[in-house]
Amino acid sequence: MTNDDPNSADLLARLTRDGIEHFWVTYYDYSGLGCSKSVPPEVFRGTVESGVVFTPANLDMDILDRQPPTATWLANSGDFLALPDPASYTVLPRFPRTAKANVWMRATDGGLWQGCPRTRLQAVIDDLASEGFAASCALEPEFYLLNKVGESEYEPVNAARMFTQAGLQQAQPFATRVVDELRAMDVPVDQLGKEYGQGQYEMSVHHGTPLEAIDRYWSLKDAVTDIARECGYIATFMPKVYANWAGNSLHVHMSLSDLEGKGNVMESAEDETSLSQTGLWFLGGLLTHAPALTGLGSPTVNSYKRLLPGSWAPANVYWGYGNRSGVARVPGVGSRRHIEYRSGDNSCQPALFLAGLLAAGLDGIRRQIDPGPPYQGDVGRLTVDEMAELGLTFLPRTLRDALDALESDEVVAAAVGDEILPHLLSIKRSEMEAYELTVHPWERTTYLEVI
Ligand code: GLU
Ligand code: MG
Repeated sequence: MTNDDPNSADLLARLTRDGIEHFWVTYYDYSGLGCSKSVPPEVFRGTVESGVVFTPANLDMDILDRQPPTATWLANSGDFLALPDPASYTVLPRFPRTAKANVWMRATDGGLWQGCPRTRLQAVIDDLASEGFAASCALEPEFYLLNKVGESEYEPVNAARMFTQAGLQQAQPFATRVVDELRAMDVPVDQLGKEYGQGQYEMSVHHGTPLEAIDRYWSLKDAVTDIARECGYIATFMPKVYANWAGNSLHVHMSLSDLEGKGNVMESAEDETSLSQTGLWFLGGLLTHAPALTGLGSPTVNSYKRLLPGSWAPANVYWGYGNRSGVARVPGVGSRRHIEYRSGDNSCQPALFLAGLLAAGLDGIRRQIDPGPPYQGDVGRLTVDEMAELGLTFLPRTLRDALDALESDEVVAAAVGDEILPHLLSIKRSEMEAYELTVHPWERTTYLEVI
């Protein structure tokens, strides 16, 4: 299903067949927050045919629900229509008689609107198709299960070791319910495991088209959050919860095929592990645009407390085979060969991040960008001089630098598009300034009785 062909008759039939009485029409804003209206059966027809009204001004609010002085979509900015995409329709088994669809945001005359992140992703998919490629993608998030033990203090729900069975046993029935729920929603779960951090888990779903990957990710994230709450836990995907805990990543897996989805264009015919020339150029594009992609994929002040050398979260721009310390790695062998991009986290708007990643890779192919040789070591173990000698540059170290890199990168900025970029930068800079103007507990602990 594409933006041009929303099949409303089918969607109406499915709502009726599934006995739905509460239909949630959802868009994900530029901070990645799900925004919904629930509509009852009397208005299903109008909803599937014309959508639900929201205002662009909602998109110009930062994550604190404040409209920054730089906002330009104000009270007089009119409306957009949130038109359910039948391809994203899913019942929500955990809520009775309830279903949900993600939307194409449309202009009020029904035409395409470039303020819509899924529309921007579709534009990059079309651009890839113009070169004869289709992308296959999967988003793999990590998250913590926590108990709240004080104001702004949390403890992991268990201390099970990484990837132990005990980690599954101790989070049962959460683990079982999440997998059952997603399977009932036709989300093809690949695995759920106990990650490295105490109380930390990781879940992956099967790869699909870029839009399927995004819609599956939202289903996963929403199910984890709701089911954790029903189990008495708090689930968080925040990039770095405590400085001494492992971070929460959002690894993005990507490969290319021909337009029929056949053949993995990234496989090298020469051996079982290396990438094809096209795959190497795609990777070269990702590395070239890595600073801007950091602004898109790691867009909170908290993100930069995760991207540290020696932490398994990348801090430098290099790639390797199987190497989990760089910004990109080639994990699979044979027909599973693909690229895993590792710097992103779950504070991003994933449709925009994926649009940026695919556009960067496509730019690499078009300009035949050589990614350089793989680096197989862990830069966390090198001195800054050794890094410089090897030509291993740093990712942006702050949100400020990353947003500047995003703004000045023509390819990634173009993927986000002129309609979205100023607003995205405005709300992110507003969030950053709120953080910078706050006096944090660390400052009182460090200075108050000392200076
Ligand atoms: N938790 C690590 C991060 O924040 C990733 C660990 C892994 O390789 O799965 O990036
Ligand atoms: Mg992991």
